[in-house]
Amino acid sequence: MICKQHRDQFNDSCDDCKNEYLLLKGFVKSNNSICSIDNNSKKEKELNKNEEFSEERAKGLYQKLFLYYVKKTENESEANKRAKNIIKLQCAKHNVQPWTWLN
Ligand SMILES: [Zn+2]
Repeated sequence: MICKQHRDQFNDSCDDCKNEYLLLKGFVKSNNSICSIDNNSKKEKELNKNEEFSEERAKGLYQKLFLYYVKKTENESEANKRAKNIIKLQCAKHNVQPWTWLN
């Protein structure tokens, strides 16, 4: 259920990417992460404004994403890359400068 073509970021017009995105969204929610992957709803947008995307939170999310992708891809470097990309996207959404461990 993960896209083989777009490894660096989700592509809006790709079904595989959409499926992966939805899976990920459900996964993050079910793990009680306070970090919202999807900012489409007004409520979530308002929520995000008031929430700080702290490094501590980013690391927690990274660990979950990494484990998630390791299970999906059975490839640690791939999982590492994908998880970091998600965190970077979150940094951009929250106007947070990405941390050095994301490089
Ligand atoms: Zn794709």
